Amino acid sequence: MLELYGRGVSNGIAIGTVEYYTNASDNVLKYKVDDPKAELERYRNGLQLAKIHLQKLYDEACNRVSKSESVIFQTHIMILEDSKFVETVEEIIGVNKLNAEYAVTYTAKKLAEVFRELDDDYLQSRYSDILDAGNTLVKILQNKKTRKTPDEDNPVIIAARELMPSETMSFKKNTVLGFITNIGSQNSHTSILARTMGLPSVTRIEAALADFDGKTAIIDGQLGKIFIDPDQTTIALYHAKKERYNKLRATLKRQIGLPSVTKNGQKIILSANIGMLDDIESAVSNDADAVGLFRSEYLFLHRSYCPNESEQLEAYKTVIKAFPKSSVTIRTVDLGADKGIDYLDIPVEKNPAMGFRGIRICLANHQFFKTQLRALYRASVFGRLKILLTMINNVEEIEYVKRTIKEVKRELRAEGLQYNDNVKLGVMIETPAAAIISDDICKMVDFVSIGTNDLTQFTLAIDRGNNKLEYSYEPYHKAILRLIKTVSENAHKCGIPVSICGELAADVKLTPFFLALKIDELSMIPSKILKVRARVRETDTNIIPEQLKKL
Ligand code: PEP
Ligand code: MG
Repeated sequence: MLELYGRGVSNGIAIGTVEYYTNASDNVLKYKVDDPKAELERYRNGLQLAKIHLQKLYDEACNRVSKSESVIFQTHIMILEDSKFVETVEEIIGVNKLNAEYAVTYTAKKLAEVFRELDDDYLQSRYSDILDAGNTLVKILQNKKTRKTPDEDNPVIIAARELMPSETMSFKKNTVLGFITNIGSQNSHTSILARTMGLPSVTRIEAALADFDGKTAIIDGQLGKIFIDPDQTTIALYHAKKERYNKLRATLKRQIGLPSVTKNGQKIILSANIGMLDDIESAVSNDADAVGLFRSEYLFLHRSYCPNESEQLEAYKTVIKAFPKSSVTIRTVDLGADKGIDYLDIPVEKNPAMGFRGIRICLANHQFFKTQLRALYRASVFGRLKILLTMINNVEEIEYVKRTIKEVKRELRAEGLQYNDNVKLGVMIETPAAAIISDDICKMVDFVSIGTNDLTQFTLAIDRGNNKLEYSYEPYHKAILRLIKTVSENAHKCGIPVSICGELAADVKLTPFFLALKIDELSMIPSKILKVRARVRETDTNIIPEQLKKL
């Protein structure tokens, strides 16, 4: 039995088999082969297996999602079968005497580059399909498991060197038990995703995780610890611990149906942060008062083309209809930084967290932004939609958005399409600039929501994803708490509500502080709602919290 310590980034216990996840082409070696004929044979066999595998994925996907979404796997088959593709690979193996994995990776990358340069948007978007198809074949050639993608009957623990948000979200919730990674940090989007999915997760494990593939493991998310090949005593111990953990969660279930109100009668809205439609279920089962943040950009990740207006409309409608009695706040896309996509022209940047992201991408891609706004407005007739703008730094950006909204409404009217004229428009306060001028911002919008994750990163100049600096990423810093106080006061002076939707919203040590500031809504990962509700209900706001006294 091997016992390893890392950093727990999502609580809970998982016991199961490890599946090592690899982005195949990143690990491809290049070497000369002695027998090119045999290597060609190996490539051709791999190609056949890849086709069978992709066809199976296509059949499975047809049962799970729409045919149009499943067709991607057939596209991958077509790419691998393409005569030019095959010819190039065979030439590299046969003439240059190089290994098949390298030949496929090289060919896929070269071909993908050609598509990336094309003028046509659709053809450009094939770029990532070509790389994906190549990856599948390389994995097979490397003899990496091509066993079925994890399914609900055989959920697995995913181990990986590092996971991007798009990769994390590509796993269906009930098919994964938890995550183990070498690289990661508490406040990265990937960790937030794991917490939202309610999956235990430990990062910064210093070991070759590929060696654990197929082995039994235990994840203790709270202690930041994993066991590989645990003995029977440890397994029994952890089954008991898991049961205790589940019982504790069951105790919290007593909060379901109770109002989110303090001992002395101050109300607060405790709402859910969600990222995918799959998360609706846990928002509902954890009795969220509302949806305070739907990170709409997740709809745009892990795909090779932009979701069109009707696809977006369907998604927004689904969330809104799931909360018929409460508001649903949908954030306009916060793409860029660690949430990159290939089908929009997002440049490779030296400092992407401070780069082309959020509203900046929307401003530069008017039609793209309008499509999202059209879908949102069309969805607004199904419930109480609120629209939240991200990474706003100045009032001009809000004015631009308002002009675009007018344009969108004009178009919808002309087309005879219905929308709600009273959709509330809000702004995320997640840069120090926005917090400092929040008096001006609050005059222009219907609500504000403080994004403490980015606000902490930018105020303290500490990259939220840099694990070496994690000790300095300190959201309790006086500067952050003061900024929250300023924003709350400015919002209330303008008569508009203020919410907090960063990870800090779920920190029960700060609940009395937030209540003292009269924060109107705290939005958090669904699994934390009941714990915070219990804290709210035992708080007396006549007692001034220490954090406030010190400011
Ligand atoms: C935040 O920055 O606090 C926030 C909620 O947005 P995200 O974590 O998605 O950047
Ligand atoms: Mg943010």
